[in-house]
Amino acid sequence: MPPSPALQAISESAVQGHEADEKYGDAMNWDELEFGVIPTDHMYIMKCSNGDDFSQGHLTPFGKIELSPSAGILNYGQGIFEGLKAIRTKDGRIQLFRPEENALRMKMGAERLCMPSPSTHQFLDALKQTVLANKRWVPPQGKGSLYIRPLLFGSGPVLGLGPAPEYTFLVYATPVGSYHKCGATMNLYIENEVRRAIPGGTGGIKSITNYSPVFEVVKKARAKGFTDVLFLDAATGKNIEEASLFNIFFVKDNVILTPPANGTILPGITRKSIIEIARDLNYLVKERDVPLEDVLAADEVFCTGTAVEVTAVASITYQDKRIEYRTGEESVFHKLRVVLKEIQTGVVEDKMGWTMLID
Ligand code: PMP
Repeated sequence: MPPSPALQAISESAVQGHEADEKYGDAMNWDELEFGVIPTDHMYIMKCSNGDDFSQGHLTPFGKIELSPSAGILNYGQGIFEGLKAIRTKDGRIQLFRPEENALRMKMGAERLCMPSPSTHQFLDALKQTVLANKRWVPPQGKGSLYIRPLLFGSGPVLGLGPAPEYTFLVYATPVGSYHKCGATMNLYIENEVRRAIPGGTGGIKSITNYSPVFEVVKKARAKGFTDVLFLDAATGKNIEEASLFNIFFVKDNVILTPPANGTILPGITRKSIIEIARDLNYLVKERDVPLEDVLAADEVFCTGTAVEVTAVASITYQDKRIEYRTGEESVFHKLRVVLKEIQTGVVEDKMGWTMLID
């Protein structure tokens, strides 16, 4: 596959030697930015042995890592990840959105998978160091963001079933554009056979093992022209849960419905923020089961996630039935989206205390 136009710009400047090195970020064609990995300058690594606390993390050049073939992550999938964005504000500063929520979610996931986790302070410090060390990769305002990917995994060797003897916390970052190139709205497909999560399982944490089992159905849906799939609950097969990478909301007569975060959906930070913004604007928000009848009856549908932000859903297809929804500027979705975006990009004062400036 030929390199993307954004990457082409980098490799052209790369051949000009070290002096040009300093300017990769500047040489980027920010308008061509996609949602993919562009190697940046530095990543952050911190290790600990089981039973000890994490300590002495450090920055290191972005690059490959060495793992034992019997590392816990490779053999038993003992690992979780997070995702958040560093955004450049209108006045050129850089801020993160609710990063302590990611720290908390990582901690919960680590407990579930029997792993030690970095403290919130260590987590935030690692994010800060990673972003500052890759500052020139934070796109200009409105052109995208620096996506930050914290990973926590069993890196020590293990053969008998059980937790690894050593853990690695690693943070890397890469500049990204919008997740779905297709534009402002999504067309979703309700998956009727494959389930994403089961009661008592790991659907409520960002376990690395939750993601590849849905590749096939998402791939098939995309081949048919859909943006993504919506999963039904495993217990009854009647209620909508979430998509492969984002949470879902339904609006009927100005009442907002979203499936409850009871362990089988990921408690999204964008989801939580949208609920708080909507309640602040006096909308009634109900976190309850959303059966197929509510999908048929909804006026609007939208989804939330760090990567997809807040995006309108233009249609949902279930078996052979396609239902279309309101997506215009008069929609509830649009009002909520604008408020969130203004906070995230520093256009309005952050009265919620959700943003963290890092420069
Ligand atoms: N659901 C799943 C399965 C996800 O992977 C994500 C992305 N983290 C979300 C929902 C949205 O969560 P957030 O708003 O915290 O990005």
